[in-house]
Amino acid sequence: MYTATAGVVLPTTIIGSLPRPGWYTENLGRRNFREAMVDRTYREQYLDACSTFLRDQEVAGLDIVTDGDCRFDADVGGHNWFSYAPLRMDGFAGAYAYRKEGGRAGVVHPRGHILHDILEARVMPDLVGPVGRGTLQYTSIWKAAQRLTPRPVKFGTITAELIAMAVRDLHYKDLREAILAVAEALNAELTDLVAAGCRVIQMEEPQIHLLAAKGLVDDVLNPGFMVEVFNNTVRGLRGKAEIWCHTCWGNPGAQRLFSTQPSYAPAIEPLSRVDADVLTFETCSSGGMDLEAIGRGIKEKKVCIGVVDHHILQVETPQQVADLVRKALKHIPQERLVIGSDCGMGREGMSRRHAFHKMVSIVQGTNLVRRELGLPEAACLAADERYSLVENR
Ligand SMILES: [Zn+2]
Repeated sequence: MYTATAGVVLPTTIIGSLPRPGWYTENLGRRNFREAMVDRTYREQYLDACSTFLRDQEVAGLDIVTDGDCRFDADVGGHNWFSYAPLRMDGFAGAYAYRKEGGRAGVVHPRGHILHDILEARVMPDLVGPVGRGTLQYTSIWKAAQRLTPRPVKFGTITAELIAMAVRDLHYKDLREAILAVAEALNAELTDLVAAGCRVIQMEEPQIHLLAAKGLVDDVLNPGFMVEVFNNTVRGLRGKAEIWCHTCWGNPGAQRLFSTQPSYAPAIEPLSRVDADVLTFETCSSGGMDLEAIGRGIKEKKVCIGVVDHHILQVETPQQVADLVRKALKHIPQERLVIGSDCGMGREGMSRRHAFHKMVSIVQGTNLVRRELGLPEAACLAADERYSLVENR
């Protein structure tokens, strides 16, 4: 149900991660969140960093905010986005380095390529027993952020298939069974998160679009099964919270994984069947090439378009953002359009300043269109001339 985007026309947000402040040097490592929060230094740095992430989004004027993925460690290519969950869930143990023949979730690149470093950093625990939610502690992490802001904090999580595909399975009989077990454990964790009051949850990177684009079809690695996994994972949540489904074309170390941008077209039909309220699409980096197909195929959900690109340092201008929003409005009605970033901006990518100004552009560009449509604009303190330090004389 629409608990976060309700009542706002053209609401703005980001996908999730933000660049860590240089002074945020503490890491969770293998500790769980509550355990680490007993450590005074960790607690102080975590809460200061989380406040900074939220404050930057408020100063930019975003309607729905995130905790910047504050729990993830400073590691190569944002690897902890993959490893956070299996390092804490029941059923995983050890540390297994990625091997070419062993993983399904890695794109193999030769040594010398930046993405080879990403593969070298792909050290994950093995799946050794029945999966359980363990010490994911999503509710504590969400509360730690939500109590710092009146705006809804969107909580993002990796999806079940990516956890199962990225580890070596020594327990389940096949990948299908492993994925469904992880989905079940995530559902238990997310059910508690929603019961605690979280209004908006984002499932990150279900493999639906990637498998549709690759045309890889077996009885597990296919879009239909991934829709089933998604719907199992969010079972029972939509009655209380707004569920988002995030899709993009990759983000490790802010690198593109494809030499030419794939099209979402083959994925639109399966994506229309996920049990979600909002679908996000990476549309800035592609110049909005799939907007028509998205508008034609997605009629029952809201659509969040990316208007800033996480791969590049050049900050999109408000005019460029407004142009893309106007283009989207030709295919998606304003009541169902949400404005965001293509993906997270914090997985060892740009600087804090770049990310901040991209967020400001999201709001300023959306405000340009809101003005044209006679809609209320969002306050953007970051662009308020009254507070410029550059003197006008
Ligand atoms: Zn993404």
